[in-house]
Amino acid sequence: MNNRILATLIFSSVTVAALAQQKGDPKATEYYTPVPKVVSPGNALHAPSDAVILFDGKSLDEWVIAKDAKTPADWIVADNVITVNKKSGDIQTKKTFTDFQLHIEYRIPVNITGEGQARGNSGVFLASLTQGAGGYELQVLDNYNNTTYVNGQAGSIYKQNPPLVNACRPPGEWQSYDVVWTAPRFNEDGSLKSAARVTAIHNGVLVQNNFELKGDTPYIGQPSYQKHGPAPIKLQAHGDKSEPISYRNIWLREL
Ligand code: MG
Repeated sequence: MNNRILATLIFSSVTVAALAQQKGDPKATEYYTPVPKVVSPGNALHAPSDAVILFDGKSLDEWVIAKDAKTPADWIVADNVITVNKKSGDIQTKKTFTDFQLHIEYRIPVNITGEGQARGNSGVFLASLTQGAGGYELQVLDNYNNTTYVNGQAGSIYKQNPPLVNACRPPGEWQSYDVVWTAPRFNEDGSLKSAARVTAIHNGVLVQNNFELKGDTPYIGQPSYQKHGPAPIKLQAHGDKSEPISYRNIWLREL
């Protein structure tokens, strides 16, 4: 058999196989219910229609002091923006959440000073816990032109996983995190049933791709899990001496 005949035979058999696959009823693999709920997708100024608004530019009504959940948050609200009040400490949401999609924007001040971890340090705790390291921190830091340990730079799950890339914008510009969080699940006896997972997009760029957390995010020592249920979201007032950063446009969709 010459090559041309062989090629024709192979082509014919591939064509027959492809045609055979197309036989049958296409409707057998289509379904129509349940119909996905209609959500108005929002834009840069408006959250999607089914979002829980955590900061609308006007008030901190949805937030309390993390150390004392009975005390209203007293970070500074002006010009539709929240600025960290380092003296008052971390703040957290009144509401608690399990799995969600979170949007949050932050701005490092244009006149930021300091270096390493002491340059615009804050953080988004995807669950605020009273135990252990206090939760699971997605790091906020100015790493536009500032190096530190890579598993502690902006976009890292603190001390666990560096960001896939450094997508920082320069100080003075607004930056965003869009996060998909799957909370850990626990067995009755407190043992871990399934680890937390996070996907995070920094300024439109993927930095955490369905990363499985090893536990909470301590400054010193190894991560660990302790049983918990729905938890608030917490923003960090880091104790470094650099100028305080700002947040705006915070919303989430429960999943
Ligand atoms: Mg931090």
